[in-house]
Amino acid sequence: MILHVLGSCSGTEPYPDRHHTSVTLETGGSLYFFDAGENCCHASYNLGLDQLATEGIFISHTHMDHVGGLPHLLWNLRKLCTIAPENLERMRGRKIPVYIPDLDVFEGICKMLLGSEGHYETVFELEPHLIADGMLCENGLKVEAFHNLHLGTPAPGEAWKSFSFTAEAEGKKILYSGDFGELPELLPHAHHADLIFLETGHHRAYILCQELLDSGIDFGKVVFYHHGVEILRDYEGELALAKQVLGDRVLFTNDGSRIEL
Ligand SMILES: [Zn+2]
Repeated sequence: MILHVLGSCSGTEPYPDRHHTSVTLETGGSLYFFDAGENCCHASYNLGLDQLATEGIFISHTHMDHVGGLPHLLWNLRKLCTIAPENLERMRGRKIPVYIPDLDVFEGICKMLLGSEGHYETVFELEPHLIADGMLCENGLKVEAFHNLHLGTPAPGEAWKSFSFTAEAEGKKILYSGDFGELPELLPHAHHADLIFLETGHHRAYILCQELLDSGIDFGKVVFYHHGVEILRDYEGELALAKQVLGDRVLFTNDGSRIEL
């Protein structure tokens, strides 16, 4: 399994050499996107990743730094079909599942696509799924969603709007935090994770490292992404602090970082 950090930045103002959050996971010849920040289409295509092998797109919550690149990614799937007949045949009859916690946002994106070239007529189908706690998919990659408190607790009768994910394949397990409130929201799902992706947009890396260590759970490495302004001001200093706690089990990622498991 290979993970590519397509965008490593949180929802700050535009930052040199960094783009909003998106990670792709490659396994078994398929591609899965976790969040779809502004640059996910451009970055994945130019890394040579096979976008037509996309078997799932998982959006943690619908803030712009996680969903801004989704229309472009979906648009490009159609574009690739128009530039080569073999792409068209490959995509004919396919369904691309998009897991998202707000279907109104998905509908808005579809309207945007309809106003684009060819009224977004495609030989494949986009298949929206409203995210709720529990298993999202089990074929190829096993993905489970669990809510977090990034967007607070919903009013009675309302649904959770912010999720974290675990993903498992090839005997490996990843935890993908999305944006979250406090680490204890994630810990029950973090056991035996080979990689724990944690965001630094709302957290200090070294504090999360200490909390992970103190929790006593069994995990492999911790991958920091979705960087906030604080960490970007002193990247090396923050990395050194985190390494004091967890040594080489800490990875700070940039746009284009590649992690092989
Ligand atoms: Zn964010």
